Amino acid sequence: MHDGNDVPDPTTLAGLSVGVPDVATASVQAPAPLARTYPVAPGEDVRVAALLEYGILDTPEDAAFNDLARIAAALCGSPVAMVNLVARDRQFMKAAYGFARRDVPRELSLCTHAIVDPGQVLAIPDLTADARFERHPIVAGAPHMRFYAGAPIVTEDGHAIGTVCVLDDAPRPDLSDDHAEALRAIARQAMALIELRRDRATIRMAKDRLEEANARLEDVSRRKTEIVSDVSHEFRTPLTTILGYAELIRDEDLDPAEVRGFAGDIMRDVQRLTRMMENFLDLERLEARATAFRPATIDLRTILQDEVERWEVDEAADNHEFSTSVKDGLPLVRADADRVAQVVRNFLANAVKYSPDGGPVDVRADTTPDARFVRVSVADHGIGIAAGGQARIFERFARTAEAIGRGIRGTGLGLAICRQIVDLHGGAIGVESDLGQGSTFWFTVPVAPTVPAK
Ligand code: ADP
Repeated sequence: MHDGNDVPDPTTLAGLSVGVPDVATASVQAPAPLARTYPVAPGEDVRVAALLEYGILDTPEDAAFNDLARIAAALCGSPVAMVNLVARDRQFMKAAYGFARRDVPRELSLCTHAIVDPGQVLAIPDLTADARFERHPIVAGAPHMRFYAGAPIVTEDGHAIGTVCVLDDAPRPDLSDDHAEALRAIARQAMALIELRRDRATIRMAKDRLEEANARLEDVSRRKTEIVSDVSHEFRTPLTTILGYAELIRDEDLDPAEVRGFAGDIMRDVQRLTRMMENFLDLERLEARATAFRPATIDLRTILQDEVERWEVDEAADNHEFSTSVKDGLPLVRADADRVAQVVRNFLANAVKYSPDGGPVDVRADTTPDARFVRVSVADHGIGIAAGGQARIFERFARTAEAIGRGIRGTGLGLAICRQIVDLHGGAIGVESDLGQGSTFWFTVPVAPTVPAK
């Protein structure tokens, strides 16, 4: 039951496993380690679990526990006193008076013997006269302890998790009832203090969680305000234009061709608003992780070819030449095919849109140097993006001065959506660009595990 100890089979006595030290070698080897056995009461697992629940193991020095040790020493007139907690395979010294605090393995823990009977104070009048302890390092060697008395620290459920103990460098005929009672009282106080510390830690944790939740709420509320202001700003421009055309149609005496022309403008702006609304809702759902995400083991080559083919037949890209270069033996990836296609589509649409003079558009797919991801890139020879603006374009509604200056229409939502999609996959997204020279947008998605994931 005592993990990690190389224990020969102990003899079992009335429910207790009692280790038998090798007395014959004691005098030769002192202060060699004791036999690696110790008594363990039934229900050790439950006892250890109870101790762990208090979260007291390995906590830092605590003045209140030191006080208890000092009081125990003073009351019993002993030079040494400790508050020890007995874990599965070691003893944690929570406080010590007249002794340096340190952990000892369970087989060197005197208190291990005291916790076997939670109802008793264990007193050992002369440690040298007891076969179990005569070779113990602090008995056979400095500080040559002779007397031990330990009162178990007992939980509400009756588990002895440690002791308050006193030691003396002189043997004592026995422990007086008064001293035994005092030790027992201090052990009760130790238990109360352990409970108090646990409750304090619980309260602190609850407070931390509450503060985190509050911070999150504030964040959400701040984001909502930002979104409302962004949306109203972005929607105002097309709405104002629509209103202007509608007023013209209503107030002016226009010929039918002019009316049709203005109606066409209105339709274009309404379509733009609709697209913006759809993109905006998609982005919101992606940011809130409230959208279906269905990763599967897929072949990117097909997706890239399909998306490029769409553009090859689109007259908006008449001045562009597309090329696709996919590394031979490109591994399969773990990705949501529809979402990855959406990213590629967006990159291609931008490559066409932001290279108004046409030119080559190169699509590439290769593995990253560490072979854990596949990297897809779309390169154009368009207007490019100034170095200062490159990081921002993945943010919602961000558009570059070059794009706006050239009157190229857009919503500034596409790349924000792409970033969310790539994030969902655990990949990365980025751009390399020179103003006036062109841009290369890229993203990575993880290579599919060779053993198919469930
Ligand atoms: P949109 O194109 O609708 O404005 P995106 O989020 O797709 O929205 O792009 C954000 C901005 O990034 C664009 O407005 C443009 O300024 C810049 N951008 C995107 N792709 C390119 C590109 N290939 N070349 C130059 N600028 C680009």
